[in-house]
Amino acid sequence: MFASLLQTLESSFGTALSPAGDIAFWLGALMVLYVIAAPVARNLIEMQAADLGMEREWIMQCLACRRVTVVAGNTCEHCGRSLGIPWTVRLRNLFGNEGEARWVRGTRWVLTFAGVALFAAVTLFALISSGAWQPQTQIERLFVGLSLVAWAGLGWLLGRVFGIGTGGPIARVRDAVFALAVAAVLSATTAVAAAARPVPETVVARVTVQGQVAQFGGRSIPLVGHQLGFEYLQIDHDTAGFRRVVPLALLGAQRIELERGGVTGALTDHLWNNAQTYARRGLQVRRRVEQIPAYEAGIYEVILRGGEIEVRSYANPPA
Ligand SMILES: [Zn+2]
Repeated sequence: MFASLLQTLESSFGTALSPAGDIAFWLGALMVLYVIAAPVARNLIEMQAADLGMEREWIMQCLACRRVTVVAGNTCEHCGRSLGIPWTVRLRNLFGNEGEARWVRGTRWVLTFAGVALFAAVTLFALISSGAWQPQTQIERLFVGLSLVAWAGLGWLLGRVFGIGTGGPIARVRDAVFALAVAAVLSATTAVAAAARPVPETVVARVTVQGQVAQFGGRSIPLVGHQLGFEYLQIDHDTAGFRRVVPLALLGAQRIELERGGVTGALTDHLWNNAQTYARRGLQVRRRVEQIPAYEAGIYEVILRGGEIEVRSYANPPA
């Protein structure tokens, strides 16, 4: 329903949406790249400076000799007189540059690299496994772009929530709340992007019918009353909104098993043999037959589209 609405929008406004889709997509991709590259670059530069022995230190002007001194302890490095620093400030300075102890720094670098690597891996996996890297329609492109923007924002915020030295507890709670809001936006935009994606079709069986005989994969099946049967296993989980269809056989006067992969075959056999057990857990496993009237000679294709079965027929073989 929603998908067909998007399809209508796509056909009416597709070209008008094209610039918006391009901008959103590339903006999102650049933001994701920035969220990955910026912390890595910052770390690498920090490591270079640390290798040179360059450190961030507190400095101040000595009240006695008027020269600028690095604050290490309570005395001036030039004249050796007391700098008169209160103990509270000295305690803060004990923790090194701007409150970060030296030993924490190495941990922070490792944690940052690990976090960025995880973020990059999840991004790549999601883009490749969902096919979102190559959007098929302008609406999908637009919403993939918006999803990338939200995803980059989420990654950045999570870095602030879990990072070392990124803020106090109140700032972390605030960033966590923002992260939740961005995650909600992300789930909405990915849902629209997924709905806007054309459902891929698989041709399960291509059957040539001539009179009362169907030809399939080099075999002939005599038909009864011009009826071709397509037997399949339908697996439904209503609450999870899950449906899978596994082709089983073609039926005429005989039954011809369709190829199933080793794993699929074993899994579907298991599901069918334990159908009653699964039914109690809400998973309906049903064996069904789609009757295809095949009065006219030609090619009949059984097509899987999402969880639905469609039959397409050609009077003549398609070129
Ligand atoms: Zn001095």
